[in-house]
Amino acid sequence: MRYSLPRFWRERRSHYMLVGTRCKKCGKVNYPPSKVCRYCGSRETEEVSLLERGRVVTWTVIYSPPEGFEEYKPVIIAIVELEKSGTRILTQLTDVEPNEIKEGMVVEPVLRRVSEDGETGIIHYAIKFRPVIGS
Ligand code: ZN
Repeated sequence: MRYSLPRFWRERRSHYMLVGTRCKKCGKVNYPPSKVCRYCGSRETEEVSLLERGRVVTWTVIYSPPEGFEEYKPVIIAIVELEKSGTRILTQLTDVEPNEIKEGMVVEPVLRRVSEDGETGIIHYAIKFRPVIGS
């Protein structure tokens, strides 16, 4: 398995913005973003937006999410291959039932509420992917 819930939560900061880093030397996009290119070791990298359509490569459905996220279950974590950059990202699917997901399904990024802090009233958002209607 190339994905896991702990990894997803650990990397959640980069899910807010959906940014990666493009290596100026080899041109590959690193996601999650990294100051050092994972492909060639170059330190010449720049941030790039990864807000683009993609296709579902594989996915997993989690019926018992971590504390505080229970109301969002089931949580669907997927690996999506982005169309333009070719980058594979770990993301959460939304607006779809687990049994409707198909390999190769076209999805697009959308900003969604992930949690709400009852005391401060702060609402947290993150980028998730939803199916593109008619694709
Ligand atoms: Zn590189």
